[in-house]
Amino acid sequence: MQNSTHHVVSLIERLGRIARGVQHSEGMKPAQWEALRFLSRANRYSRNPGALADFLTSTRGTVSQTLITLEKKGYVLRKINPGDGRGKHLELTDAGREAVERDPMRKIESAVAALGEDRVLAEKLKSILGELISDSGCKGFGVCEHCIHFCANGAAADINGPHRCGLSGDPLDHNEVVRICREHQEIAA
Ligand code: SF4
Repeated sequence: MQNSTHHVVSLIERLGRIARGVQHSEGMKPAQWEALRFLSRANRYSRNPGALADFLTSTRGTVSQTLITLEKKGYVLRKINPGDGRGKHLELTDAGREAVERDPMRKIESAVAALGEDRVLAEKLKSILGELISDSGCKGFGVCEHCIHFCANGAAADINGPHRCGLSGDPLDHNEVVRICREHQEIAA
């Protein structure tokens, strides 16, 4: 059992190294690709430097350097946050979205896809990740469907609905509910 555990941990470590290696691409570093990927998947409450730092488990200073590089490349725009007028809101530019289409992690995705869909493996990896996140006190992130604050069809009559976030009170459309959120709180099993 112990050997099998060590073997799995060793495989995860090796996969992590390979995943980082393939992301030294187009003159970019893994953290820069991770930031682009995050911004392409994050919801409106999470497209900001603080949430990006939480997701990358990095410092604000390091994330700031990453964003400066991505801005210089024309991939990211920093705007005043429309929510409170103080913080910064991040958006991908068209060039940033095109870069995400060339994401070098697609090589890994192809290798995983070649195995066929495996929900058991996905659930086990999710469980390991959840435990490590909980131990480290990091933000979990997740989508609305599995969040305690999600009110399905809670804004059925609203043009920006039909769903609602119970935490912010905002209506959510179908595109928004599949995006990852910093405020997500997993429904207890
Ligand atoms: S329902 Fe949960 S995951 Fe969805 S926007 Fe609200 S806090 Fe975020």
